[in-house]
Amino acid sequence: MSETATAAAIVKQHLIDPEICIRCNTCESICPVQAITHDSRNYVVDAGKCNFCMDCISPCPTGSIDNWRTMPKAQPYTLEEQYSWDDLPVEKTPDQLAAMGVADGGTDTAEDLVPQAELVASTADPTGETPFNSAAYNASIPPWSAAHAYTNLYGPKAADRFVTATVVGNVRVTEVGKEYDTHHLMLDFGSMPFPVLEGQSIGIIPPGVDERGKPHHPRQYSIASPRNGERPGYNNLSLTIKRVLEDHDGKPVRGVASNYMCDLKVGDKVQVTGPFGTSFLMPNHPKSHIVMICTGTGSAPMRAMTEWRRRLRKSGKFEGGKLMLFFGARTKEELPYFGPLQGLPKDFIDINFAFSRTQGQPKRYVQDLMRERSADLVPLLKDPNTFIYVCGLKSMEEGVVLALRDVAEGADLDWDEIGPRLKKEGRLHLETY
Ligand SMILES: Cc1cc2nc3c(=O)[nH]c(=O)nc-3n(C[C@H](O)[C@H](O)[C@H](O)COP(=O)(O)OP(=O)(O)OC[C@H]3O[C@@H](n4cnc5c(N)ncnc54)[C@H](O)[C@@H]3O)c2cc1C
Ligand code: SF4
Ligand code: SF4
Repeated sequence: MSETATAAAIVKQHLIDPEICIRCNTCESICPVQAITHDSRNYVVDAGKCNFCMDCISPCPTGSIDNWRTMPKAQPYTLEEQYSWDDLPVEKTPDQLAAMGVADGGTDTAEDLVPQAELVASTADPTGETPFNSAAYNASIPPWSAAHAYTNLYGPKAADRFVTATVVGNVRVTEVGKEYDTHHLMLDFGSMPFPVLEGQSIGIIPPGVDERGKPHHPRQYSIASPRNGERPGYNNLSLTIKRVLEDHDGKPVRGVASNYMCDLKVGDKVQVTGPFGTSFLMPNHPKSHIVMICTGTGSAPMRAMTEWRRRLRKSGKFEGGKLMLFFGARTKEELPYFGPLQGLPKDFIDINFAFSRTQGQPKRYVQDLMRERSADLVPLLKDPNTFIYVCGLKSMEEGVVLALRDVAEGADLDWDEIGPRLKKEGRLHLETY
């Protein structure tokens, strides 16, 4: 085999380290070609789709995405293999590669990769039209005026794998008696440093082992309290946790971490990793506007941002801009914090609820409300001081970004210009799971 032929037959395959990955979904939501997917165990990269654009590398909070292995281009690690891994395979030796019919004489160049990217585009959509890709608009940088976020203080790469927090409160925030059970949980870190910002998340390590006898991997939860704590001045934070009793397809399951968390009692100890997140952060400059679009527990970061702005307003030292909230749930009984939200002053926050399963009422989703409120959203979209946050179930993401596009186009704004600008200026943040 000639050297050129061997070199072209080899690829540096892009892989995710399952040992360090915290399953935060950032990479999957950012990848513009949907090369990243996950199951209940691992996040994986499809070698047939990844075009090495590198968009996912810097947003990954742990660095677990930045792994590469030399492999024959014709025999990359399959998705099934990657789903089964507990840790990454070691690099193949030259002898192993030779036995697979190739030699490590070099890897693909950017030009070599172009046909692969073209192949992806052509197989993705046989009609030739590019499908709408909401992830392409997700900013990987924070607003320019965001505060500095500390990350990975506790976790696989830190000196301490976790910090122990004490449960100081656990209150149900959806109506008792309904099957939809969501809890507001308060954790105290005592004298251990755990600095956080609104929009960041933490990892919870459930006790025990999984079906393979391995320790459970940490589950991610958005912080629902502001930077100075659920109880200001104390080293504590809150979470909004939905008890998972059925999977995304409606099949009965008992989610490991969410049930563990919802059943915790005051005084119990919890193993925490993190904090995580460097881009889904709020702006801090005066008169900056915040548009929040969420469903279910996606309300957690919105509660944190709203409460921080409320405290600033109370202090009288900060002139905030507009706060606009679009909040969706099946019914009002399933909507966490429904009561407290109703009590916020109308001149402080503009709240819009959408319920999709209220008896006798037509189904309404957050995207419907956004279209209805176009006249108020358009000036905000145009204003460089507006920052938009979307959080909740994955299924809402595309509809919400399409609604933003419709709002823009309905006012003769060029979405092809404004959409990429929102991303580039750290003004549109999508966190769906
Ligand atoms: C960045 C980020 C922030 C998050 N923030 C929050 C938050 O603030 N509050 C919160 O409650 N959750 C949040 N989650 C989801 C959370 O991390 C867990 O995935 C969820 O609690 C389920 O974990 P589990 O151990 O109970 O279920 P598992 O035992 O991991 O899963 C059991 C089954 O349920 C399915 N499943 C997992 N999650 C859900 C879900 N949400 N709805 C329906 N089926 C599901 C799984 O696919 C699996 O089949 C967040 C996730 C991410 C990535
Ligand atoms: S490098 Fe680009 S194409 Fe590959 S997985 Fe990351 S974001 Fe997706
Ligand atoms: S961004 Fe990093 S830590 Fe998060 S799921 Fe992807 S690889 Fe894992």
